[in-house]
Amino acid sequence: MNQTFHGHEVQPGQLFINNEFVEASAGGRFTTSCPSTGEVITDIAEGTAPDIDAAVAAARAALAGTWGSMPAARRGQLLSRVADLIEERIDRLAVIETLDQGKPITESSKADIPLAARIVRYFAGWADKITGDVLPVAGNYHTYTHRQPVGVVGQIIPWNFPILIACWKMAPALAAGNTIVLKPAEQTPLTALELAKIFRDAGFPPGVVNVVTGDGPGAGASLVAHPGVNKIAFTGSTAVGQEIMRRSADTLKRVSLELGGKSPNIVFEDADLTSAVFGAIGGIFYNKGEVCAAGSRLFVQRSIHAAFMEQLKAATAKRLVDDPFNPKTRVGPQVSAEQQARILGYIEQGKAEGARLVAGGEAAQVNGRGWFVQPTIFDEVDNGMVIAQEEIFGPVLSVIPFDDAEDVVRKANATIYGLAAGIWTKDIKLAHRTARAIEAGTVWINCYNVFDPMGPFGGFKMSGFGRDLGRDALDDYTEVKTVWVDLN
Ligand code: NAP
Ligand code: MG
Repeated sequence: MNQTFHGHEVQPGQLFINNEFVEASAGGRFTTSCPSTGEVITDIAEGTAPDIDAAVAAARAALAGTWGSMPAARRGQLLSRVADLIEERIDRLAVIETLDQGKPITESSKADIPLAARIVRYFAGWADKITGDVLPVAGNYHTYTHRQPVGVVGQIIPWNFPILIACWKMAPALAAGNTIVLKPAEQTPLTALELAKIFRDAGFPPGVVNVVTGDGPGAGASLVAHPGVNKIAFTGSTAVGQEIMRRSADTLKRVSLELGGKSPNIVFEDADLTSAVFGAIGGIFYNKGEVCAAGSRLFVQRSIHAAFMEQLKAATAKRLVDDPFNPKTRVGPQVSAEQQARILGYIEQGKAEGARLVAGGEAAQVNGRGWFVQPTIFDEVDNGMVIAQEEIFGPVLSVIPFDDAEDVVRKANATIYGLAAGIWTKDIKLAHRTARAIEAGTVWINCYNVFDPMGPFGGFKMSGFGRDLGRDALDDYTEVKTVWVDLN
């Protein structure tokens, strides 16, 4: 039942349960659209509570079966094979991601997919290195700790980095021996289904990886409520994160939440201006601003403000807004019409609040269609304005002038969020002092939006808790068991 969309093979989506593609039990379907044209790409099975039941049952059976007794090194080999297959299929995965999400093909093919493969390979290496300790306790006991998998993990992910976030959630969970039910975002389900095939082709036993497409209140909420799920790992909005945490209390699930941000990007007067402009632009316009770590509040020291703004505006004007399949495109369409409308609403609010619009400010179209928004900059923003406090999740930058280090640290931390921050200066002491004072899970000094499989990523404050990536991610996917043996 193959079909094509603009010459690309795209199949109608089914649920992936127990290594088989199946229809949703209630028979419902929803559509996924192409942000650059507004057309429907294909339709997708809409999973509901009974499908979550089936997926959780498969995941529990896999834990009790071959997966649960598989040598750790073998789990690592299987994950390595997944990394290889992602790399082999990079061209197709990048096309599907760009079709479904709208991100420039240059980003999906050169950043998202290769990084997804590197992350899976990194965690493949951890599979047989997750160990406990022998403890020199008082008394005549042999006492040791085990790190055991948490069990069945429900993973609920957003639409901004569909395959990348799927991989950075799944790989550590699998390395640690858990089984998974993944609920992708309804706007971008296609690469998760490609990934399901990859796991099957790599030789994963049935039930270890399950993908249930559907919406948040249906499939997502059923996963959160399910007594057979031991943990929920979520990336998305703070409001939904709070709801998930509340609902998880009923079954006392383990929860890790990677939520929104309003990250400060701070340019001190002694910074290398060319690099700082480059970092400011990438910090907000990469992936059309649909980045949880986006440097959406740009703090510029007053002494360089005028000169900096000239360079910033010139660089923004060069940022090509076009069809995401054009390799020169740097700003693609927003993921959905709703998201575009939401961003435009914030732009209107910024104007009404009295911020000075110095670039963009409107919707855009390419060939008369698509959910684009012009790269937009507001200057002279007050840190208390709505556009400086709420996550816009689009290509909208708020520039806030500051006086000195003390002033900027106070303003930078005056937010409910604490996901990331950038600091631009040549002064090594100022850089590290500021990094220490900023309340954020990641601080980039003279760079921005740099990621590596080894670097833990996650939030302070209302940006959530728990860490993705790095060795720290494994802690969130294991339970520690302490065993005491009486030697008397
Ligand atoms: P969202 O509502 O938080 O969605 C994220 C995921 O949670 C999706 O898979 C969603 O499913 C699911 N979900 C929604 N309600 C749920 C519930 N009650 N129980 C369980 N799962 C549920 O995010 P969004 O609507 O896509 O975007 C809204 C805003 O969130 C954005 O504008 C942005 O500010 C923020 N956001 C942040 C990040 C981040 O990386 N931190 C990523 C995306 C969005 P469905 O959407 O399929 O219904
Ligand atoms: Mg889509």
